[in-house]
Amino acid sequence: MLSNEDKIKIKQEIDKKVSNLTCPMCQNKKFVMADGYFNNTMQPDLKSFSIGGQGIPTIGIICNNCGFVSQHAVGVLGLLNNDKNKKDEPGK
Ligand SMILES: [Zn+2]
Repeated sequence: MLSNEDKIKIKQEIDKKVSNLTCPMCQNKKFVMADGYFNNTMQPDLKSFSIGGQGIPTIGIICNNCGFVSQHAVGVLGLLNNDKNKKDEPGK
């Protein structure tokens, strides 16, 4: 799903900002990247569920020992480049 170019860019951005990447659960230092983005859809209230509203797109970095998933907002990593994506990013 993700291109090699996107994976390299994501890895570079995370490496720039997180030194010594370590799993907070098991202290393992090896992770794999999810092969696609997550979109955490924001809900206006807890009594209903709406699909297609604003969300926070993230990439998941998964501990290859215990499976802990660390999600990183791609907007903060500077990876939302086009106008369509910026429109969907909260606070933009
Ligand atoms: Zn772990």
